[in-house]
Amino acid sequence: MATSDTNTTPKAPEYPEQVTGMDILVRALRMVGIDTMYGLVGIPVTELAYLAQDRGIRFVGFRHEQQAGMAAATHGYLTKTPGVLLTVSSLGFLNGLTATANATVNCYPMIQISGSSVREPIDLQQGTYEGLDQLAMAKPLVKAAYRVNKPEDIPTAVVRAYRAAISGRPGGVYLDVTTPCLGAIMQGADADKLFYQPVDLCPAMPPAPEAVKRAAELLAGAKKPAFLFGKGAAYAQVEDKLKALVERTGIPYYPMSMAKGILPDNGPLSALSCRSTIMEEADVVVLVGARLNWLLSRGHGKWSDTVKFIQLDIDPEEIDINRPIAAPVVGDLASSLDALMAALPAKMNMDPTWVPTLQAQTKEKNTKFAQRLAANADAMPMNHWTALGAIKPVMAANPDVILVNEGANTLDDTRDTLDMTLPRHRIDCATWAIMGMGMGSCVGAAVATGKSVVAIEGDSAFGFSGMDFSTICRFKLPVTVVIFNNGGIYNGIGVNMAGNGDPAPTTLDIHARYDKLGEAFGAKTYYVTTPAELSQALTEAIASKAPALIDVQLGADSGKESGHIGYLNPAALEKITV
Ligand code: ADP
Ligand code: MG
Repeated sequence: MATSDTNTTPKAPEYPEQVTGMDILVRALRMVGIDTMYGLVGIPVTELAYLAQDRGIRFVGFRHEQQAGMAAATHGYLTKTPGVLLTVSSLGFLNGLTATANATVNCYPMIQISGSSVREPIDLQQGTYEGLDQLAMAKPLVKAAYRVNKPEDIPTAVVRAYRAAISGRPGGVYLDVTTPCLGAIMQGADADKLFYQPVDLCPAMPPAPEAVKRAAELLAGAKKPAFLFGKGAAYAQVEDKLKALVERTGIPYYPMSMAKGILPDNGPLSALSCRSTIMEEADVVVLVGARLNWLLSRGHGKWSDTVKFIQLDIDPEEIDINRPIAAPVVGDLASSLDALMAALPAKMNMDPTWVPTLQAQTKEKNTKFAQRLAANADAMPMNHWTALGAIKPVMAANPDVILVNEGANTLDDTRDTLDMTLPRHRIDCATWAIMGMGMGSCVGAAVATGKSVVAIEGDSAFGFSGMDFSTICRFKLPVTVVIFNNGGIYNGIGVNMAGNGDPAPTTLDIHARYDKLGEAFGAKTYYVTTPAELSQALTEAIASKAPALIDVQLGADSGKESGHIGYLNPAALEKITV
């Protein structure tokens, strides 16, 4: 039997004359500027991580690959360079792939590098150690997928993966590296010849002048125009250009969730609380790195029949997906915004009552919102609004802290309560609205930026990634995790209709002491039951710039099923809660 899957002890290279595929891979990654790798090691990539760490790539080791992947994706989103995830074969690969798929859906650039088993027994399905046709699994879920079988091909594979991750619409890329390729030995002098410095890794893609002219004319004639910013604009780091455009035109803006803070949520032209008015009344809406997907239709509001869209996006296939786009501007946002600015006439035709109407509405909505927080300020036990009322001023006093946020009610209510004033300071469960990005995103955000992070997590959401709080602790990151414990998914008062003593499907543990979990890993921990305690704990935790966990005790009845997306449930059960 002559498969290459035989039991031979791996050979060591004779350094410095010889190198392995792993040496080549690390050097190729360094050459394109990769300085951080998130992952979880085991056969066949343990040595690879050791080499990476030795050669100037920070290796951040996790407890679960999915969270390492969420970290890589967040790193990619915040830095405009691909985040790198390293996984082992089979299950490790699959665990990581969920994050790479999520990155692809959200247009975050990342590269999942996975070791994979020897090809021959996989292709003949003979049953080998961690045998799985990983490339085939990855392909439908990622932007691009490649396998590299020979060490000579590694530098090209890395450059291609890098280009695929960040060029055009960013996304997740899978790079499969077989065990024999990782361990293959080459003469160092031959390997040296393989490397090259790639030119212009993320080329500008300016829009066509006719497209810009069409958009500028439509916008200049608009009576009730609005900008709608998406996380593509946050990713593209074009806040200065947007500021100039908003100042020059006087047109109000509405940010999608992760675009909050591109321009201040509380700025004079922010129409954050006027979403439905914009949907119903605006005559021209400029989509800037935002998609007209489920988050901008169906239960999330209805556009008027007469609204015309200008869409600035890098992906030509995005145009017209749900609504006709009157003026598509396909190109990278930096180029497109420059071109649009240059093409606008001196005189706009905005209705002089449009902005004052939105501003009056904003004032009214803000007053109502403040009243709601005040009305709940003393609730005992606390509910979501009580807790958020305590958190709001602390976050306002720390504007440069990055907020990570997931949950159902915890997501919706936090997004509505906390104003953002700086771009790329809000990271949430985004387009798929998934749970289970929390701890990974905290790590990615803290490592990529060096800034402090506060995560506001529902108790259920935290459960998906909770063990990786230990990663925050091992790497001593300035991250505070705040857990809103209402004892369940949506809330803690679900009813088991069989009455057999089992918890209801939505019921978790209202008495769980998540702070003790933090204690296990040496974090500073707090258990709080009042807004005053919460405010003090959060202030202290942020100031400490060290790992901290705050268990916030809410009432089990705080929160409703599905938060703001109850309309997506197939039917409403009357008896689901008491
Ligand atoms: P949101 O959820 O905030 O609405 P989406 O993720 O739905 O944002 O949309 C982001 C859009 O931004 C995507 O259609 C993507 O193609 C686009 N995009 C990403 N990066 C750029 C860029 N550099 N230039 C132009 N468009 C971009
Ligand atoms: Mg909950």
